[in-house]
Amino acid sequence: MAATAQAAGAEPLEVWIDQDLCTGDGICAQYAPDVFELDIDGLAYVKSADDELLQDPGAATPVPLPLLTDVRDSAKDCPGDCIHVRRVSDKVEVYGPDAE
Ligand code: SF4
Repeated sequence: MAATAQAAGAEPLEVWIDQDLCTGDGICAQYAPDVFELDIDGLAYVKSADDELLQDPGAATPVPLPLLTDVRDSAKDCPGDCIHVRRVSDKVEVYGPDAE
């Protein structure tokens, strides 16, 4: 199935970070501080809707629609290519290194 940005539409999306590849530059936390935050280990993590840092490997958090552009730009500009944005419904990546 093609997973273009347009196909993503207004479908619910979620985002997760592969910390193994994170460089810790903090670009994502600058673009979307409500979604991304650097922990004391110097790596970026996603945050839950109630602002809790999610540190389990592969932990995903919903992308708030008003922040979609910021999250998408974070994935595009992430130097580690490690921000993955996918559809909630079928887990197909729409922005990030594994997007088609
Ligand atoms: S932009 Fe990417 S590499 Fe940089 S801190 Fe965020 S997740 Fe890590």
